[in-house]
Amino acid sequence: MNYAIEFPAIPVLPVAESNKTFPVGRIYCVGRNYAEHAREMGHDPEREPPFFFMKPADAIVQNGATLPFPRVTRDFHHEIEMVVAIGKGGADIPAGKALDHIYGYAVGLDMTRRDIQGEAKKMGRPWEMGKAFDHSAPCTAVKPVVMIGHPAKGAIWLKVNGAVKQKGDLSEMIWNVPEMIAYLSKLITLRPGDLIMSGTPAGVGPVRPGDQLEGHVDGVGDLAVTYAK
Ligand code: MN
Repeated sequence: MNYAIEFPAIPVLPVAESNKTFPVGRIYCVGRNYAEHAREMGHDPEREPPFFFMKPADAIVQNGATLPFPRVTRDFHHEIEMVVAIGKGGADIPAGKALDHIYGYAVGLDMTRRDIQGEAKKMGRPWEMGKAFDHSAPCTAVKPVVMIGHPAKGAIWLKVNGAVKQKGDLSEMIWNVPEMIAYLSKLITLRPGDLIMSGTPAGVGPVRPGDQLEGHVDGVGDLAVTYAK
């Protein structure tokens, strides 16, 4: 490619037990997809259609990293999520065919500047500066479907400095993975390399400089990151 400027390489995630990497295209995130979390955010978890927001691909941070603490927040929150890695694109994908479009799964964090997001909500403004900032998407290696199948139940949890803060089960999602793919692919054409962060269980809370975060999804993986002091 004969670019006119120097341009960073495409962000990638490792593929578990492989020397291949998964190129990251767009990152879509599902909001309020676990009833208990919807309640803790002050919403009635009735089955409204799912809604989506985005993070840039270069928000990806590799598993095991030590991260700079974002400076412009006084209320920085963790959201542990299962991540769906799209292998085959498409539009108007029926839920019954959605699983065929998935390459694999990972464990991710939808890091959130809750104060900035809250201000945006109040003002009727976009969420990006609360959600889509630098280093806001730590993520594990992708485990291919051929290795682990399609996890639809199993524990998802997050610990801060060894103490469990978030705990749930994948089966508690309001919109399951095939349904979210069906909805999202009505709104946009999914492309290979896209990631979908599938929502977070209850227990979101503050992260401080020096904190160690460990996240887990049964069968999918373990994520660990540390924030610089
Ligand atoms: Mn989230």
